Amino acid sequence: MDLPRGIKGAPDWLPPDARAFEHVERTVLDTAARAGYERVRTPIFEPTEVFARGVGESTDVVQKEMYTFLDKGDRSLTLRPEGTAGVMRAALEANVPKTGGLPAKWAYAGEFFRQERPQAGRQRQFNQVGIEALGTEDPVVDAETVLLGWEALQRLGLHELVLRINNLGDREDRAAYHEHLNAYLDRFDLPAEVEERRRLNPLRAFDSKAPGMAEIMAEAPVLSDHVSEAAKAHYAQVVELLEAEGVPLTHDPQLVRGLDYYTRTTFEYQAANLGAQSAVGGGGRYDGLAEDLGWPERFPGIGWALGIDRTLLALRTDGVELPETQRVAVFVVAASTDLAPQAFALTSELRRAGTSADLACDGRSLKAQFKAADRSGARYAVVLGQREVEAGEVTVRDLFTGEQRTVARDAAVAEFLEG
Ligand code: AMP
Repeated sequence: MDLPRGIKGAPDWLPPDARAFEHVERTVLDTAARAGYERVRTPIFEPTEVFARGVGESTDVVQKEMYTFLDKGDRSLTLRPEGTAGVMRAALEANVPKTGGLPAKWAYAGEFFRQERPQAGRQRQFNQVGIEALGTEDPVVDAETVLLGWEALQRLGLHELVLRINNLGDREDRAAYHEHLNAYLDRFDLPAEVEERRRLNPLRAFDSKAPGMAEIMAEAPVLSDHVSEAAKAHYAQVVELLEAEGVPLTHDPQLVRGLDYYTRTTFEYQAANLGAQSAVGGGGRYDGLAEDLGWPERFPGIGWALGIDRTLLALRTDGVELPETQRVAVFVVAASTDLAPQAFALTSELRRAGTSADLACDGRSLKAQFKAADRSGARYAVVLGQREVEAGEVTVRDLFTGEQRTVARDAAVAEFLEG
């Protein structure tokens, strides 16, 4: 019988990679928590219309990439391809717009699913950490969110980073611009796919990777030339605040990002040295998303998502050393197999007292136990010998320096708590 294999594009994360993964996720969540963004958890699957309406029918994500299926009650469900639409759905369902205390500042982390062609930095199941600030249009919050993503990536050690930013204006600004863009696009013989999509949303022509499209779009009229004075003033404030923080901005009038909900400030963090999949994260304002989902009035928001897989790839490409987090702090070693019960008791006591501790099993030799201790990353080994057990003592060996000393058993437990 063949061993079942995992799904292509759905990676397993095992130690030590899983440790690096957790370091990235935790650093980003911690950066968000410092700014008061609280963790939320929404389901991994949603009714399909959450994404069809939220992300938009004209997008690659909705047209080609979603894992959509019928459940036994014939309801169409979709594995979440991104975080914002589901988080907004949850906020509206909880009546957050009416409950006061806005903005709601939320953070999330988890698995997302897109049926794309797997390659380096592009998976079918991938992980994102994201934040959303719901219920405010204040440009200070635009600057805050953009800065937090930037700082999270800096903290991780990604210094070769380009922040591309654009102003997509408001929905109301779009009609006139769409006319300009369509008049321009009418001059070309476009691929059928682009023709079809631009009927739904002309902006999506910017996403096309079809041959020749990049050249056509390079000369296309850009949205930021057609936005209202209010949107221009808003964007100018965001830029001013970010520049005052010393964040280098690259204005990119072609940056539309592939989701329909973006309005006004839209941005992307790019690792300078990743090839095709260079965006480690991105986001923007989505002031019309609540209405797209069926909410009766405007409920604005802004957020971003950073991809963990791609961030790790960028860190590795840059040669950034990820901190080798130790598996446990203390490793208990029994000098002879008949001391296994005492070793087990001491390990359990250390754990109960709050120290991470482990021990070898299967009656390993002393040498093998020390090898296991080294592999665990523990700084200290606590060695139990017959004589020590009788005297109520243990030998503590510093595995980094090799120094060792004999101390009272209880004192050793207390010492590790302080260390
Ligand atoms: P998006 O939701 O498309 O704005 O993507 C935000 C970030 O999520 C990207 O910059 C990537 O880091 C990550 N991401 C999106 N799609 C994938 C994928 N298929 N595989 C790995 N990471 C992805």
